[in-house]
Amino acid sequence: MITIKNLHKSYGKLQVLRDVNVEFGTGKVVSIIGPNGAGKTTMSKCILGMVLPDSGDIQLNGESVLKKYAYRSQIGYMPQIGKYPVNMKIRQVIEMIRDIRKKEKNVDEELIGLYALEEIYDKRMGALSGGTKQKVSAALAFLFDPPILILDEPTAGLDPIAAEILKAKILKEKKRGKLILITSHIMSEIEEVADEVLCLVDGSIKFYESIVELKAHTQEDRLSRAVAKIMNEGYHP
Ligand code: ADP
Repeated sequence: MITIKNLHKSYGKLQVLRDVNVEFGTGKVVSIIGPNGAGKTTMSKCILGMVLPDSGDIQLNGESVLKKYAYRSQIGYMPQIGKYPVNMKIRQVIEMIRDIRKKEKNVDEELIGLYALEEIYDKRMGALSGGTKQKVSAALAFLFDPPILILDEPTAGLDPIAAEILKAKILKEKKRGKLILITSHIMSEIEEVADEVLCLVDGSIKFYESIVELKAHTQEDRLSRAVAKIMNEGYHP
């Protein structure tokens, strides 16, 4: 569903993505891992059209998405730190996202209900705790039932119950056929929700494999150990 071809991106002299080539299919959760500064967020933002690559292409169902903001409506995004206008009420932020995505009505309000956000609809974004802001971000990402989701460290800052609700939602939407890309450092969590792991190091793909294959190749029964082994000893498929 998403095809990334020969993607390069630099910020000034800093080369952040180096010839990234990858394809993501539907109905799966792919975890994007890698050290800080590896280019994970930049890759996500290129897919979202928030960052324009230097060269290469990104296709959604065979059509280039570069410079086509309309495709943004097909991707729900939960940023690591949601930056919202502090004076906007939760209900106004939802309306704003609806306008951006050109939707008439909300089609997936499940997280709004589960997180009881209606009760605080008139609170201003600037008055929310970090965790509540994360709940709003999660609900907004899923709101219009987009076929693709990009979630950047989605459970960071969420309380354990809210995190469980989000993980259950991710698994449910995967079963409904969505493609969900998750940036995370928490291996146990990745193991719970993801099918495949893509590891970026220094802007290049070090490996992209299913969790089952990673464990088999490394002869490790835990993902954290399998990943550590590959990082320490190199990768020999
Ligand atoms: P990751 O998400 O893997 O931590 P990022 O994609 O956020 O990595 O960042 C990769 C590198 O690009 C880092 O060195 C970061 O400082 C740099 N970078 C990210 N965004 C910008 C920007 N807008 N301008 C300049 N440098 C940036």
